[in-house]
Amino acid sequence: MSHINEVIAKVKQRDPDQKEFHQAVIEVLETLEPTAERHPEFLKAGIFERIVEPERAILFRVPWMDDKGQVQVNRGFRVQFNNAIGPFKGGIRFHPSVNLSIIKFLGFEQTFKNSLTTLPMGGGKGGSDFDPKGKSDNEIMRFCQAFMRELFRHIGAECDVPAGDIGVGGREIGFMFGYYKKIRNEHTGVLTGKGIEYGGSLIRPEATGYGTTYFAAEMLATRGLDFKNKIVAVSGAGNVAQYAVEKVTQMGGRVITVCDSNATIVDEEGINAEKCCYIMDLKNGRRGRIKEYADRYKCVCVEGLNVWDVIREQGIKVDIALPCATQNELDGENAAALVKNGCICVAEGANMPSTPDAVRIFQEYKILYGPGKAANAGGVATSGLEMSQNSLKLSWSREEVDQRLLGIMKNIHAACLSAAETYGKKGDYVAGANIAGFLKVAKAMYAYGVV
Ligand code: NDP
Repeated sequence: MSHINEVIAKVKQRDPDQKEFHQAVIEVLETLEPTAERHPEFLKAGIFERIVEPERAILFRVPWMDDKGQVQVNRGFRVQFNNAIGPFKGGIRFHPSVNLSIIKFLGFEQTFKNSLTTLPMGGGKGGSDFDPKGKSDNEIMRFCQAFMRELFRHIGAECDVPAGDIGVGGREIGFMFGYYKKIRNEHTGVLTGKGIEYGGSLIRPEATGYGTTYFAAEMLATRGLDFKNKIVAVSGAGNVAQYAVEKVTQMGGRVITVCDSNATIVDEEGINAEKCCYIMDLKNGRRGRIKEYADRYKCVCVEGLNVWDVIREQGIKVDIALPCATQNELDGENAAALVKNGCICVAEGANMPSTPDAVRIFQEYKILYGPGKAANAGGVATSGLEMSQNSLKLSWSREEVDQRLLGIMKNIHAACLSAAETYGKKGDYVAGANIAGFLKVAKAMYAYGVV
């Protein structure tokens, strides 16, 4: 058994029930075999054993009072995965499915993603099994304050800088930052994704969706293609999906789908700028369901299925797929249907949205496939730019941040291709992203000795 396979076996044996974490570890480590061969010093220094183990994982009780005056108790998590190249950094997710396995997989992925951005950020992730759906603004505020009442002692601008993720957007960041500021009596860049009035960066809300689209455009360009007149499927209807729809439309593509956890809409005419604004108001303002879009614009709405199931069941042709909802939303059957119907490019706005079977199919059929840790790194990269602006006590213009984001996405794309080629995996974005992200972190860990 190779050294890497021994490490994978140990991870499984230590935490047998953490299936999402195993999936992420296997996907990364299996592509790192060539680095183990070229860097025997990493084996001697136990880098592979250490990189799969979080620096620390914090679990805490979050008690809060609902509008009826009843006490509710949720569970809070912060996994500080790796700070070899900078402070821990990664989002906070509020969703009923959140558990230690999901937070560990996200923190592990984040370590490599943050490294790829070339900015000095380590990897971390946090969250709670709290379900924001159906809660009043006051309940959301009380929950965010209760969550920060414990989290504040573990984070800091030079130590660990959380951001948003599923269920955590501008409103929640505002409540958490306000409470941190109150109890610490300091106004520092301890969270990113802040409002523009109190230290946020222009383009941060747009960054993940825009960045994913820029990454897809880079991949398409390697085959002399672009977004013009392409039919594009986007899943999700949240932060990442909304700005992916906006940017794809600006680049000349026609987005025909979005979904939420209840339904998928298929709008063959395309989700134009006006319809995209409608989705933003529906989801961010009125906090409604995507079904209302179909009522308003008289298009197809399929309840109970996600975008990829609907595409498969109805045999819909799309040229480009941007999964932007959640992990494991796109399985092998869905991937086969996409390929059969002529899909040429998949760029992941979400983290690990394609199952291992789906990834195998994309690779087998030589689809341009950009894994999340590269394709959606624009969000955290712009968080890094927000941290820089906070440290410098400056704010950059919209154009300046957007240009930096575009430059970072181009660099990540080039770094993936270059690492893949150097290590004998030409054109393989999965291997390229993992190897490029890993090497920087591994070299830093090696330099520190055993700590
Ligand atoms: P949001 O909470 O803003 O949106 C998530 C969207 O996905 C919602 O519309 C939600 O539906 C939908 N969704 C969630 N679960 C499912 C499901 N099982 N089936 C169908 N739809 C579902 O989150 P974000 O847009 O911020 O995050 C989306 C993904 O992107 C996540 O994987 C996240 O980790 C990743 N990501 C986010 C970044 C960011 O900057 N925000 C950065 C990098 C990655 P509903 O409205 O019903 O809840």
